[in-house]
Amino acid sequence: MKHLLLWDIDGTLIASGGAGMRALQRALRDVFGIDGLLADIDFAGRTDMWIMREVFRKFALSATRENFERYFEGYVAALPAEMNNPQTRVLPGVREILRAATEHGGFAQGLLTGNMRRGAQLKLAHHGLWDHFAFGAFADDSEHRNELGPHAVRRALERHGVNFAADDVWIIGDTPHDIACGKIIGARTLAVATGGATLEQLREHSPTAAVQNLADTAAVLALLERRP
Ligand SMILES: [Mg+2]
Repeated sequence: MKHLLLWDIDGTLIASGGAGMRALQRALRDVFGIDGLLADIDFAGRTDMWIMREVFRKFALSATRENFERYFEGYVAALPAEMNNPQTRVLPGVREILRAATEHGGFAQGLLTGNMRRGAQLKLAHHGLWDHFAFGAFADDSEHRNELGPHAVRRALERHGVNFAADDVWIIGDTPHDIACGKIIGARTLAVATGGATLEQLREHSPTAAVQNLADTAAVLALLERRP
């Protein structure tokens, strides 16, 4: 295996039609009895831990470990029903590029996501995509996305016995936060304009490459297997 692909989830692999936000609102009501709207919190590219901390700040809840755990349990309980909405979908070309990269044989594929692991599994399993990923880095590892890269690279080593050099690693995501977390470990970055930002906005952050979407499987695969 020559390359390590680390995929973001929301806005990159799938669109959830706001399911995550509504599940957090539902949990806010179920767990803390607060009827509140979270639309003013900028979720894109953030970790679940960071988002929950913002919610606690907004509603003056104390950020204790117990409150985090209760809130997260409420979120996980509410998420499956919210994933059943007509806007939830796999983004263009995603199934094809994941399959093509697996069949190619030269790519290891994992996740690098701001979701907690259980939330990531619920979202991806809903679309039959979870089994593509044997490992990943999640919000369980750190509240800050910029700290997730080393966890993902270490798990790739454990899983595949390959110590991927930084420039053999691709971080693939839809926000400037994904680009930043790739750059901080010296990885290459592929920005995809299917979620939180436009192609022009993403290019301002100088990713290695930027594409409108992943629909052209052959072109994306060729880009990913190019040597640095
Ligand atoms: Mg994203």
